[in-house]
Amino acid sequence: MAEVVTTAAPIPRARVRAMKEYHPPLGSRDALRLDFNENTVACSPKVREVLGQISMGALTKYPEREPVEAVVAAHLGLKPEQAVLTNGVDEAIHVLFETFLEAGDELLLPVPTYTMYEVYASATDASVVTVEASGDFEFPFGRLLGAIAPRTKVIAIANPNSPTGSVATRAQLLDLVQRAPQAAVLVDEAYFHFHGETVMDLVGQAPNLFVARTFSKAYGLAGLRLGLLAGPAELMRWVRRVLSPYSVNSLALACLPPALEDTAYLDWYVGEVLAARAEFETALDAAMVRRWPSRANLVLVEIGAQHAEFARRMRAAGVLVRDRSSDPGCDGCVRITIGTREQMRQAAVALNEVLAQLRAGSEAR
Ligand code: PMP
Repeated sequence: MAEVVTTAAPIPRARVRAMKEYHPPLGSRDALRLDFNENTVACSPKVREVLGQISMGALTKYPEREPVEAVVAAHLGLKPEQAVLTNGVDEAIHVLFETFLEAGDELLLPVPTYTMYEVYASATDASVVTVEASGDFEFPFGRLLGAIAPRTKVIAIANPNSPTGSVATRAQLLDLVQRAPQAAVLVDEAYFHFHGETVMDLVGQAPNLFVARTFSKAYGLAGLRLGLLAGPAELMRWVRRVLSPYSVNSLALACLPPALEDTAYLDWYVGEVLAARAEFETALDAAMVRRWPSRANLVLVEIGAQHAEFARRMRAAGVLVRDRSSDPGCDGCVRITIGTREQMRQAAVALNEVLAQLRAGSEAR
């Protein structure tokens, strides 16, 4: 074989070299997990049963998604051609952006919001236009409308939003969809179950509306990676071209029908979180911690200059929380996932202890 002389190594695309690194802090999470807005207990026991029945032979086959897509579409009142299953909503975001964003196009984004919108947009040749919420973190509807341009090709809205827990109304979303007919409007309903309002029923009626749902939150299946993207059948055809036919694995596909069927489990978990959120908000108010109203399984709180130390000490006390201080407008803020009432009572005890330590420390200075 001829000797290979390497004078240059392969160079990634300029866009990729400019991408921000995103390393979610997934290591050492053996504590009370109030850092990723997951289900903090378990998935439905019905899912466990199905997992136990999967044969070794079944794993030799490529996964067949269509039958399960039909089940989930029916569950959501959609036609099968309006819905695809994805490897988490992250993949739904990725394929939607790959389908619609070209050089010179714009992704319009209210911020602060979910990090992966910007990450996936930055891998395309489009640019990102952000509209920052004001201090109350309410959905910046008016300014978002004002920022719509002919080049706006995607608008991504997490509803409810993370890390703030704020919501856009159905009327606002409809207005956006109508005022930007050239854009794919993604309403990411990852936290739908804790809010109860949806625009899923408008899929197919509004020609440019896409709705995403995840099974990582209320359903407790984050480890299986299951998401859904719904949109008008004519446009979903293109999304399907971009999507890998095998990106949702067969274990995840097998688990979805029992998860959907067990509405009693879902109702129990959601009810528990809503009760816990109300209790925890009262605890935050008593501790004089500023917080923002939330319709999701999370609450954003203002800790101030000691945000990083707060998160560190909470971890030492056995409770993981997420420092969001570097998000736009979130200086000094920390996001706390809401779990069950029992878990949030434990979290409130830790929070009060840590705040007392920090406050005593700053008085001493
Ligand atoms: N959308 C939002 C708004 C989220 O907060 C998250 C997860 N943190 C996701 C999507 C990702 O969901 P999945 O696990 O289905 O990829």
